[in-house]
Amino acid sequence: MVEVLRPDTAGLQIAARILRTGGVVGMPTETVYGLAANALDPDAIARIFAIKGRPADNPLIVHLASTDELGRVVAEVTPLAARLAHHFWPGPLTLVLEAGPAVPSITTGGLATVAVRVPDHPVAAALLDAFGGPLAAPSANRSGRPSPTTAAHVVADLGSDLAVVLDGGACPVGVESTVVDARGTVPVVLREGSIAHEDLGVVTASADASPQASPHLGASPGTRYRHYTPRCEVELVAGGAGPARAAALSAEGRRVGLVATAAAPDGVIEVARYLDVSGLAQQLYAALRDAELADVEVLVVESVPEVGVGRAVMDRLRRAAA
Ligand code: AMP
Ligand code: MG
Repeated sequence: MVEVLRPDTAGLQIAARILRTGGVVGMPTETVYGLAANALDPDAIARIFAIKGRPADNPLIVHLASTDELGRVVAEVTPLAARLAHHFWPGPLTLVLEAGPAVPSITTGGLATVAVRVPDHPVAAALLDAFGGPLAAPSANRSGRPSPTTAAHVVADLGSDLAVVLDGGACPVGVESTVVDARGTVPVVLREGSIAHEDLGVVTASADASPQASPHLGASPGTRYRHYTPRCEVELVAGGAGPARAAALSAEGRRVGLVATAAAPDGVIEVARYLDVSGLAQQLYAALRDAELADVEVLVVESVPEVGVGRAVMDRLRRAAA
């Protein structure tokens, strides 16, 4: 049975000891909770894939304590990668680079590239320090479930297969990192995430070198899989249209939940109410899980503009509604 540990010195030491013996622990990051194991130990990584039920060709993100560690896991730090790392790390930007020889192929899903980032969360940073090496950590959910943003979500999904999760409270960002191919001279976005697409341009000098969306779908293997599947129907409506649509569905006798900026009308379950798009991002996955726990049949969610973190939010909502 899983133990939820406070991330104090004792808790961190227990978690680091499990990692050193090839085990797996739940760890908070600023994006979502991760399922962490020694990135350089194939047996430890096999445990992550088994616990999550993750397809073997869906590679893991390797987490580092600092940019100085990059040379341990990549073959070459391109000038673009150096600039992106300098500007965005620690933070929710994942760089895809040519993998170094120390990284086992199970970690990279058999690819010649590896995905890396330095997380910006005090508990993840402390655990990386205590362990003293790179940690692979995909989201700590069962494959196909919404990503976990609290320790309780990790327990709900993986409690039976996990010894320890460090409790760092609710994740401040709430959606996953932006994944960028940094092997060339221009950042190529492989997966939308919490670092705004448009913000990546700060490291590129000229307008014709602005960030690009990936030309080949599936360049980031994880985006091929169906993700973020709540056990209720999700209906995306226009901004502002949520309460009226929810009331109409409720009048048809359905059990309806609402995620919107406005209050839920009578008879509708208010699953989440937010002030701005960052607030929605932070609560999004918890809202999907809360809707299930409340036995909601249809969850009405208002669309948000696709700028900044709104791109990632709409990407996740479309997958949940699909
Ligand atoms: P997760 O850790 O669950 O957020 O998933 C990690 C994401 O990073 C998935 O969408 C992976 O496909 C992507 N990823 C990891 N390694 C690579 C890589 N070498 N090339 C492209 N995408 C990657
Ligand atoms: Mg995931």
